[in-house]
Amino acid sequence: MAREIYAYKCRLCDTMHYPFRMVCKNCKQNDFFEFDTVPLPKEGKLLTFTRVYNLPPQYEVPTLGLGIVELENGMRMLGQLDIDEPKAGMAVKGSVEIVRQETYDGYYGMVFRSA
Ligand SMILES: [Zn+2]
Repeated sequence: MAREIYAYKCRLCDTMHYPFRMVCKNCKQNDFFEFDTVPLPKEGKLLTFTRVYNLPPQYEVPTLGLGIVELENGMRMLGQLDIDEPKAGMAVKGSVEIVRQETYDGYYGMVFRSA
């Protein structure tokens, strides 16, 4: 099964949050942890991007593309880009992959490619 990254939906007002928050940013009435997890959509639109050249040693790549993507439900998230020539406004599709490998652990994040 494909891996997912989850958003947190308030059980009182349905507002979606990502990353996790202790209290709902909309209704502020929510008790702690009263959220349902909902997989983030994978399709979206690239809003802005950059390329990082001076990476920490855990990243075993020479450069890394990073972008902010507006997902189809309106949420925005930061992800890695596997796109040679990104353009603002282009359609992208994400998949959850290991984005940082350390000796014993791989860390997962969203990698976007052109859709
Ligand atoms: Zn709420």
